[in-house]
Amino acid sequence: MRLTIVDGSESASRYQANLISYVLDGDLAFDAGALGLMPLVDQKKLSTIFLSHSHTDHIATLPLLIDNVYTPTPECIRLYANSATIDDLRQHVFNDHIWPDVFRLSGHTSPFVEVCTIEHGQTVVVGNKRVTAFDVQHTIPTLGYLVEDDTAAIALVADTAACDAIWEFLSTFERLRAVFLEISFANAQQWLADVSQHLTPQGFLAETKKLQREVDWYVTHMKPNCAAQIVAEVAALELPRCHFAMSAQTYEF
Ligand SMILES: [Zn+2]
Ligand SMILES: [Zn+2]
Repeated sequence: MRLTIVDGSESASRYQANLISYVLDGDLAFDAGALGLMPLVDQKKLSTIFLSHSHTDHIATLPLLIDNVYTPTPECIRLYANSATIDDLRQHVFNDHIWPDVFRLSGHTSPFVEVCTIEHGQTVVVGNKRVTAFDVQHTIPTLGYLVEDDTAAIALVADTAACDAIWEFLSTFERLRAVFLEISFANAQQWLADVSQHLTPQGFLAETKKLQREVDWYVTHMKPNCAAQIVAEVAALELPRCHFAMSAQTYEF
């Protein structure tokens, strides 16, 4: 499978920016921070989007995307999220004030979006891939996703603080090749990471030791004003097979 980091930047030489989206093999997306900034031709290739949670960096362009790809046919984007995220979108985004209520409008003959609930432990098959949701540890109910095809499995862990259950679950997958895990703040901001339920480099290292598999690690979700410090602190960890998710970069698994 081919995973592309989509963050609104066309340059592949920058660290992933803080609009979070991943596109797998062109048609399957995870989070919608920047999907609506892709060329329209690429937006129209998307069939299914899985959301981790409702924080803005993960949903910012979802209203634009839904509008951009709408056609007056029975075809529409299929959106998976947990019930807390769907409630938040309904109440705070698609409420006719911030954006038209596309959930209500989709009750008509030409839907804008098909909304589907997915919760911890549930698996959805999309084409040749299996997507399994798992709970992580964040300030609101948040899902990470394990994606498997015939040859590999990768984990998109989403925004999280320390959480043993994630690693107990992921350790059971023999074909796990890569884990995308966040570091939001530098070590000096551990207090901020604690109150906002994120990781620092020292917290990231502790999480990697809980996984009973050898994988490639990809650092995601660095807050831009902490990135230089985080990069230096991660380098000092000398963690093998540890990389930084880069803007507009495609990774093959
Ligand atoms: Zn968040
Ligand atoms: Zn976030």
